[in-house]
Amino acid sequence: MKINNERLPPGKAVQHTRQDLAEEIDVAKYDVVVVGAGNAAFCAAQAAAEKGAKVLMVERAPKELMGGNSRFTAGAFRCVYDGVDDLKAIMPDLTKDEIDRSDFGTYTQDQFYDDMFRVTQYRTDGELCDRLVGRSRDAMRWLHGKGMKFDPIWGRQAYLIDGKFKFWGGLTVESKGGGPGLIEQHLKLADKNGIVDDDHLRPVNGHWSPRPDHHSGASRAPSR
Ligand SMILES: Cc1cc2nc3c(=O)[nH]c(=O)nc-3n(C[C@H](O)[C@H](O)[C@H](O)COP(=O)(O)OP(=O)(O)OC[C@H]3O[C@@H](n4cnc5c(N)ncnc54)[C@H](O)[C@@H]3O)c2cc1C
Repeated sequence: MKINNERLPPGKAVQHTRQDLAEEIDVAKYDVVVVGAGNAAFCAAQAAAEKGAKVLMVERAPKELMGGNSRFTAGAFRCVYDGVDDLKAIMPDLTKDEIDRSDFGTYTQDQFYDDMFRVTQYRTDGELCDRLVGRSRDAMRWLHGKGMKFDPIWGRQAYLIDGKFKFWGGLTVESKGGGPGLIEQHLKLADKNGIVDDDHLRPVNGHWSPRPDHHSGASRAPSR
């Protein structure tokens, strides 16, 4: 169905309908179409591709603005860890010196549930909350397995106390390069894993090239 733009208020013209997209891109070639290219979309695309699906990602924003809110975050990931071994599993580059000079504490399932119940005043959806908490550690390992690199959030979530970085708040891990690094890593990984190429990531509107320029974000090491 075509939308008649003349009937819409000025500035509200719909550039592309589902029909247009279907005509412009041969969607029948794909098993899964992922709309958007933020953190959730890239994860969904990776998960679908992992199952053997042919994936198309379509993004509304021009190249320089793509990545939605995900690009503007700190790239912080709240996830369960029972100790430094869980952190090493997703940040294998952590050095002995960094570990010796840090008090990462723990963020157990119980701590995560307590936070969820506290901030929502027990009005969280039980099933979704179980997935979020119960699978957060596996989700981080999965992302790491895809090639995503993480750092401890030295700059935001730790205080230097008596020569040791003490982490607080259970928010200990960020994507390398923060939010911009998160999106740039996703683009690279999707490219590497064959999800993003000239045929698989398309602007719905606009004219940006689907192949990104890669600007790797600076990793944050603790100030010495
Ligand atoms: C300042 C700030 C800091 C934050 N910090 C953190 C943090 O550190 N850690 C954390 O976990 N959360 C943080 N959040 C929350 C986080 O930003 C969101 O939960 C997360 O980015 C949502 O990801 P998403 O992939 O669902 O959406 P988005 O990242 O917003 O991606 C949506 C994508 O879809 C595209 N799109 C939209 N409409 C269409 C359309 N019609 N067709 C095609 N494409 C479309 C957009 O252009 C965009 O690329 C923060 C939020 C803000 C505002």
